This record gives sequence, C-alpha cells and structure tokens, in this order.
Amino acid sequence: MKLEESENDMNDATATTSADVSTDPDCLFCKIIAGQVPSTKVFEDDEVYAFKDINPKAKVHVLIVPRKHYANVHELAEKSPQTLVHIVEVAKKIADDAFHGSFRLIFNTGEDAGQSVFHVHAHVLTGEVLAE
Ligand code: AMP
Ligand code: ZN
Repeated sequence: MKLEESENDMNDATATTSADVSTDPDCLFCKIIAGQVPSTKVFEDDEVYAFKDINPKAKVHVLIVPRKHYANVHELAEKSPQTLVHIVEVAKKIADDAFHGSFRLIFNTGEDAGQSVFHVHAHVLTGEVLAE
C-alpha cells in the first residue's frame, strides 16, 4: 500500500514536470497560430504555420513557425530536428511558388542578433532579386 502511494507520488511528479509547454500564453506567435491575433496565412499544416511578415524586407517576406513553442532555432534543432528540416522544405515550396525557387532563409537567434520574438521563426525572403 505504501509502495503504491509512493508510486502515485512519483507519477504525480512526472505529470507536473512534463506539463504542456507546447504553447506560451504570452507569446505573440502562439497567439497568431491560435488565431487570437490576425495574420495573413501563406501555408499551414500539422507542424508549421506560415504568414506574411507585417514589416516586409523583400517583395515576399514570410515567417514560418512551428506550431509548438520553441524559443529559438538551437532549441528547435535539439528537440525537434525533423521540424527544422520541414521548415526548409516549406521555405522551398513558398519560393517555388513566388520566385522559381530562389530564397534567403534567416533565423535571428538572440537579442543581439536581432531576435525580437522568442518563438522560433524562419524569415523567408524571396519574390525578387535580393541585394547582397
Ligand atoms: P525577429 O526580429 O527575427 O524576431 O523577427 C520578428 C518579425 O516578426 C519581424 O520581422 C516583425 O516584422 C514580425 N512581426 C511582428 N509582429 C508581427 C505580426 N503581428 N504579424 C506579422 N509579423 C509580425
Ligand atoms: Zn510561442
């Protein structure tokens, strides 16, 4: 009986530490994915959501975000590498549709590199010949 109780305690502890951290209620991009903040959708599937950047730096400037919340590309690579690969595939598809497959893919990582939203996002720049 005591053993069962302690097993239950352990289960409770496991449940607490593995709480759902796939979304962050304070995160702008989690809110966009949930439809709580408006966006212009470009592509979506089970794993990612892609939408137009509100302040475009190229003729076509799309942000691709995983539906689950990861702070940056390093965390994504560590915890869900297949999603990172998928983001590259989606970027290629967007560029195929917009500009014969040429695109620039940027992950600003860390405040000093210009990251302002801490939900990993790939900037896809395409749709025109890009300046160096
Ligand atoms: P970064 O500076 O790399 O974190 O990129 C954040 C990007 O999110 C910037 O390019 C912003 O223009 C863009 N952005 C911020 N708010 C929104 C929004 N509500 N809808 C679309 N893009 C946004
Ligand atoms: Zn988020």
